Amino acid sequence: MQVPFLSFSYMNQQIKAESLKAFETFFDNQWYILGKKVEEFEKEYAAFSDTKYCAGTSNGLDALYIALRSLGVGNGDEVLVPSNTYIATHIAISNVGAIPVAVEPDYRTYNIDPKKIEEKITKKTKAIIPVHLYGQCCQMDEIMAIAQKHKLYVIEDNAQAHGASYKGKITGSFGNINATSFYPGKNLGALGDAGAVTTNESGLFEMAKMIRNYGSSKKYYNDIVGYNMRLDECQASFLSIKLKYLKEWTKLRLTIAKNYDEKLAGVGDVITPYVNPDSTHVYHLYVIRTKKRDALQEHLAKNGIGTLIHYPVPPHLQKAYASLGLKKGALPIAEEFAETSLSIPMFPGLSDEEQDSVVKAIKSFY
Ligand SMILES: *Cc1c(COP(=O)(O)O)cnc(C)c1O
Repeated sequence: MQVPFLSFSYMNQQIKAESLKAFETFFDNQWYILGKKVEEFEKEYAAFSDTKYCAGTSNGLDALYIALRSLGVGNGDEVLVPSNTYIATHIAISNVGAIPVAVEPDYRTYNIDPKKIEEKITKKTKAIIPVHLYGQCCQMDEIMAIAQKHKLYVIEDNAQAHGASYKGKITGSFGNINATSFYPGKNLGALGDAGAVTTNESGLFEMAKMIRNYGSSKKYYNDIVGYNMRLDECQASFLSIKLKYLKEWTKLRLTIAKNYDEKLAGVGDVITPYVNPDSTHVYHLYVIRTKKRDALQEHLAKNGIGTLIHYPVPPHLQKAYASLGLKKGALPIAEEFAETSLSIPMFPGLSDEEQDSVVKAIKSFY
């Protein structure tokens, strides 16, 4: 049986009629950028995130950039970031002129290890970006306490964990200003590029809106040198529709994860995801770890099972970051994860038969 790594078929079929209608409205309205649909979605996503404000952006990388810049993080500042995150988190820091300083993850949750944060703080440290990797919320109490003690800003990178929570508080509501991505494959995905920032601080909200729109708060009057990082009306209307389904789709992800957890427990040297008792996990990705990762991936491919590696090269070993001067061995946990992690199919609509095929193929490898 062929099992794709990701398919939108189930979700798309649920939203097709409504989305086509929304497209027609958008088309006929003749207003394409920063209009009513964006404002509507921003209100809905702020409510979902339990924050006062949300500003839609062009994508997740830009949302991170806007978050950092609206806090005034810039040239020469240091920003703490997990060593095993997607490269975007590092790039956003570099793009404001700051320096990404990697902190190793917890060995079990794969999220930034609160115990390793303080040793990386210097006089230049301005902010921490916890990333809720793969869909599990970070240990936010510990992180917020460290930030408060050292007067650091917190920016959540919530690209992978829409709707996850820590002690009942939802992701995207902890930091000063938080960034998310609605890249199509994320749990809440647009039909193209999109992102957002969320905050409870009106000053940061106004600043974020300026940065995304040429530094302008009033048309043709520019207060700062901004960018064009806007969310468009069409994507906003699709996102409003998909947001209504997110809870239901998350439940489906959780059911699949539970099934995998049960069926893969004790199979070979497979390590299934660990969830911190204070956190919830929304399984953007279901990542297993094994010392035989490459061979297992090849075996699964031969059996028609799609897999991906998140991520094969940690940021500090990317060519783009050669200037940081970090050699192999500098961040051993991130490096080990890069060599042992494998993401198996996980998406709403993955059938029981498909899940069985994935499990069977993994078992047949061992
Ligand atoms: C996807 C992702 C981003 C970037 O989002 P884009 O919309 O692709 O720019 C940032 N951080 C993390 C952790 C991501 O997974």
